[in-house]
Amino acid sequence: MKTISFPDLELSKELEKAITDLGFEEPTPIQALAIPMLIEGHDVIGQAHTGSGKTAAYGLPLLGKIDQNDRRVQALVMCPTRELAIQVSEELAKLGKYLPGIMIIPVYGGQPIERQLTALKKGVQVVIGTPGRIIDHLHRRSLDLSNVKVVVLDEADEMLDMGFRDDIGDILGRTPEKRQTVLFSATMAAPIMELAKKYQRTPKHVKVVHAQLTVPTIEQFYYEMREGDKIEALCRLLDRYNPKLSLVFSNTKRRVDEITSRLNSRGYAAEGLHGDMSQSQRERVMAKFRSGVTDILIATDVAARGLDIDDIEAVFNFDVPQDPEYYVHRIGRTARAGRSGRSFTFVSGKEVWKLRDIQRYANVRITPDFIPSDQDLEEQRTLQALTKIREAIEKEDLDNYRLRAQAMMGEEFTSLDLAAALLFMTDKARPKIDSPSQAPIPRDDEKRERNNRPPRRREAYKSPHPASNNRGGQRSSGQRDRRSYTH
Ligand code: AMP
Repeated sequence: MKTISFPDLELSKELEKAITDLGFEEPTPIQALAIPMLIEGHDVIGQAHTGSGKTAAYGLPLLGKIDQNDRRVQALVMCPTRELAIQVSEELAKLGKYLPGIMIIPVYGGQPIERQLTALKKGVQVVIGTPGRIIDHLHRRSLDLSNVKVVVLDEADEMLDMGFRDDIGDILGRTPEKRQTVLFSATMAAPIMELAKKYQRTPKHVKVVHAQLTVPTIEQFYYEMREGDKIEALCRLLDRYNPKLSLVFSNTKRRVDEITSRLNSRGYAAEGLHGDMSQSQRERVMAKFRSGVTDILIATDVAARGLDIDDIEAVFNFDVPQDPEYYVHRIGRTARAGRSGRSFTFVSGKEVWKLRDIQRYANVRITPDFIPSDQDLEEQRTLQALTKIREAIEKEDLDNYRLRAQAMMGEEFTSLDLAAALLFMTDKARPKIDSPSQAPIPRDDEKRERNNRPPRRREAYKSPHPASNNRGGQRSSGQRDRRSYTH
């Protein structure tokens, strides 16, 4: 099946520009299915869960239908909760950012009604509200729905569960019969179908099928932290587990470049992969990753699709994926071909709610974990060094080296001195991370400003792609308290 791109959807240039600003690479499945139908004017009943991109699926066509010169209410979105009303209103505002003539307001219980009355009086074209507060405004005559072209019932199943059935009927009764009615619900139980039958005209059905998690050998961990600590955490986990190949996912192209450049400046061989790169550039990056020249690949969900590599030992979700389905696809990149794998998900602020959705949706358990402390990392390095030493003793012909070691020992050094110095030298060659602190970990750019010094331990890795090379390529050498890093 041909994948649909945003330009295929023929949205206005103002909407396209806003989509580009938001960093969306391509329409989500529900958007690819629903947007063309909605633009054509059909009623649509969509089965989609939170995180599927359903707001933009109905929001983009809705914004495209607004007449900016008409200050009457032209679109109404009903939501079960005030949180969702606010979220939808924020998302529509972002999508409509280049349509300054369109006024959007949320109306919900709990906010002083006066503020909403003033806004409504000035004239708004898009109202997003909870049924109770919409009814309230209708009774006060502060809301006139007689010119509404589009009505959306978002999370309709929730609204029915909350007992809004009659309110929904009353509200729809105040809108013109000749309107477009859009209904989104996570389930398609009988009451939803009744609602559709009653208020929609020959609706088109769209449904996004759930991906199944089929790789039970993946150990899945999550880490709660502040946004600014994510790079530090990534480096620590890379050092702790030392995966052969790692795939780091982020939600936008911009973030891919940012993470790549920050890892490069800390001496890691990382490269980015995203939709803005040419096909030949992408192939080159993938070939280097496949052969292990670069062992860390940072990608968006879309760009990683063409990647078919069996040796990925770790998947990092630098950002929690917007769509729970993406989580399943992402972590399915590891533990291929009967191997085991690990996934590490970084969670900050509100992302914790998305993580809950993911666990419910994918029916998986993601275990909370701690970012390794300095001590953990030291122990890990000793263990790795010992393994290498054992292998060398068992497998290599060391006769010549034994003679050289004997000559070096003489009277000046003991064998212990010699071994310790060699361990120190191997340790120094690693791309190390900064000493941890319980105080906020400064961002790289802040640290660069404070410590305008060249990298201490290793030449900064230069990506062949200028977008992922940072200007200075410097690392911090700031020495802070040696405390254990928790979060
Ligand atoms: P929703 O399912 O509408 O709650 O959307 C979940 C999140 O996905 C929101 O933060 C949107 O900004 C984001 N989103 C929507 N469409 C896309 C897209 N095509 N690509 C990437 N992210 C998207």
